[in-house]
Amino acid sequence: MTQSPYRPLLEAVGLDAHMLEGGDLPVVTPIDGSIIANVASAAPDDVAAAIDTAEAAFQSWRTMPAPRRGEWVRLLGNELRREKENLARLVTLDCGKILQEGLGEVQEMIDICDFAVGLSRQLYGRVIASERPGHKMLENWHPLGPVAVISAFNFPVAVWSWNAALAIVCGNPVIWKPSDKTPLTALAVQRICERVSAEFGEDAPDGLCQTIIGDADIAKILVASPRIPLVSATGSTRMGRQVARTVADRFGKSILELGGNNAMIVTPSADLDLALRAIVFSAVGTAGQRCTSLRRLIVHDDIYETLVPRIKDAYRNVKIGSPLDGKTLLGPLYDKQAFEAMQAALQQAREDGGVVTGGSPALTDEYSDAAYVTPAIAEMPAQTDIVRTETFAPILYIMRYSELGEAIAIQNGVPQGLSSAIISSDMRETEAFLAASGSDCGIANVNIGPSGAEIGGAFGGEKETGGGRESGSDAWKGYMRRQTTTINYMAELPLAQGITFDP
Ligand code: NAD
Repeated sequence: MTQSPYRPLLEAVGLDAHMLEGGDLPVVTPIDGSIIANVASAAPDDVAAAIDTAEAAFQSWRTMPAPRRGEWVRLLGNELRREKENLARLVTLDCGKILQEGLGEVQEMIDICDFAVGLSRQLYGRVIASERPGHKMLENWHPLGPVAVISAFNFPVAVWSWNAALAIVCGNPVIWKPSDKTPLTALAVQRICERVSAEFGEDAPDGLCQTIIGDADIAKILVASPRIPLVSATGSTRMGRQVARTVADRFGKSILELGGNNAMIVTPSADLDLALRAIVFSAVGTAGQRCTSLRRLIVHDDIYETLVPRIKDAYRNVKIGSPLDGKTLLGPLYDKQAFEAMQAALQQAREDGGVVTGGSPALTDEYSDAAYVTPAIAEMPAQTDIVRTETFAPILYIMRYSELGEAIAIQNGVPQGLSSAIISSDMRETEAFLAASGSDCGIANVNIGPSGAEIGGAFGGEKETGGGRESGSDAWKGYMRRQTTTINYMAELPLAQGITFDP
């Protein structure tokens, strides 16, 4: 094989030739569809060995004071700051998102490290009023055990960090099974973790963070193992349904972060300039391959004829190109299969009476093996089944409404429940959207698009999105076990419910 022009970048992030050659898993970059490495997948025995190592690591890590565990994560954040530029380029190479988004993804890793370091001194329990005299009740949070993190191709490193930074300060080793489409970023992060452990010193147990390269069958071994008390899985709803069943069957815990089908309602009082910016970036960013991408736009009749032509104009000006070029807004789809899925969805939209613009192949002369495409708009007469389905591509379905209640019903009328937004300057409308009878999603935004999220809030969604929460707020509790304690500090032993007996 002739050496890939991307090899210097791979070496700059610590990936040696022996990791990049001779393996059974070809790694393709969506930038030009070329094979940039052949990495080795794990065997089932390697997974069992990784679980053994993680169990052993847990024995010491769970007794380490939490602020000291936070020190490991602080070092990780420092290392990520140093590696930010190279790692971001690798994210772009591995999954095809534009460089600015690659930088944003690594920044999210840094941010969650900062959050977790603070959290390591705030894993608060509580004191609860006992109904008995001379007694008190406590609630304590303890480490859980090895955590498996299964991640998707479109956020090849940030999702790991949202889980790992919390899991580690909470006292748990982490075994990561990244997407087999994006193993290089995972291997680079594994190298970083090894450097962090060396700097931390001998208190860092072997196998605190491990990475296992492989496909769904490798992930299934982790999912089925009763020695993994928590599986955090990010990916399609199809995958989540299988993981949920297997983990529930063995009474394990799961955090599921699955597909989204995110909508935005634009009301007559909306600031249309702001709406336009929010719409175009949320729908086109990451080539529509974010779980939070804007897929459905619900526009009031009174502004439809003003807003929709402006969106179409903006779409014509979207710069399509290599994601490494600083001027590009729309990079490639992951592969030709994603392109075919997009074409099939657009064809179905036409058959349902939709009027489609865009969605054509782009840059085919320059990148014949890649999957660049113009962003598509489908003006729909109704929310048909294809609109209710998540297609991982830059397709924006647009529908009309006349009453806010109708718009909220359309917004909620899909199986997924991740992210949602309203653009409105009318407080009655925005409050109705945020009320219990408003958006049914885990994320509900006002005057900002549905895509992306800050790490400070809990991230996740309802219904087929899986119900899991990661990242900020009190998501850390998902990585610990809760213990309730009653302490009697009297000489007597009064029994509950007035029971008396003489032993
Ligand atoms: P995918 O479901 O094909 O794969 C995701 C991961 O799951 C991979 O590591 C894969 O090897 C593994 N996997 C697949 N089947 C499995 C099984 N039966 N058991 C165990 N593991 C299995 O998803 P993808 O194409 O990589 O990513 C796109 C999907 O991920 C979209 O649906 C997107 O919305 C979703 N996503 C959700 C979030 C979120 O936070 N809600 C974030 C990113 C992506």
